[in-house]
Amino acid sequence: MTVKVGNASNHANHIKIHDDSVSREHLQIEKLDNETLLITDLNSTNGTFIDDIQIRESRFQRHQTIRIGHQKFTGDQLFDKLRMHFLDSKVIWVDEFSRLKNKFSDYEKEKAKIIQSYQTKLVVIRAVVLIMIWIVLFFIGGEIGIQAEFRHVVSIIGGVLAMLIIPKLLPNERRTEELSQLRKKYSKMLACPRCSRDLSAQPYTYWIEQRSCQQCHAVWAN
Ligand SMILES: [Zn+2]
Repeated sequence: MTVKVGNASNHANHIKIHDDSVSREHLQIEKLDNETLLITDLNSTNGTFIDDIQIRESRFQRHQTIRIGHQKFTGDQLFDKLRMHFLDSKVIWVDEFSRLKNKFSDYEKEKAKIIQSYQTKLVVIRAVVLIMIWIVLFFIGGEIGIQAEFRHVVSIIGGVLAMLIIPKLLPNERRTEELSQLRKKYSKMLACPRCSRDLSAQPYTYWIEQRSCQQCHAVWAN
């Protein structure tokens, strides 16, 4: 199959680019294998460039960049756009999908570890602050004018306030960053085996219940 790329005004194009620097029939793409494309420029006005060198016909790989008129794309971006056009003709992907189960569970485990370590830190910091407040109020309370019979009450109130405030003071950004790095790492693995759609947002059981991919209609489960 050949994928045609050109200006959005041409409905015959498989990939339509909204830019006047892109010709109506700009280029065509053939898939040679999973990592290699054959790009042919169709005598476009502003040309096709791979790694800034103008081409007429050339192989293209994921690590390269392509410029179509004034529009530049990385290899990943181009392969992404082509995903739905170069689907494997096979429709049943039950075996391949079942092999994702372990990867999904690894992801859940690593995610839980990050959340758990944050919770542990929270418990430790709360305990330390609580003890410090208690010590300060109990031993120095008299000097700052808190009567002995109120010191316990004041300690408890101070402790409860600390409990409420500490989670808000603890930097949450690092945990969010760690979780998003983890998701990035897994999103390529936790994907539909046919169309590479990212499935990391939901657990394995959720997708098994769906039985098939809403995007490419690959069958995941019988
Ligand atoms: Zn799919």
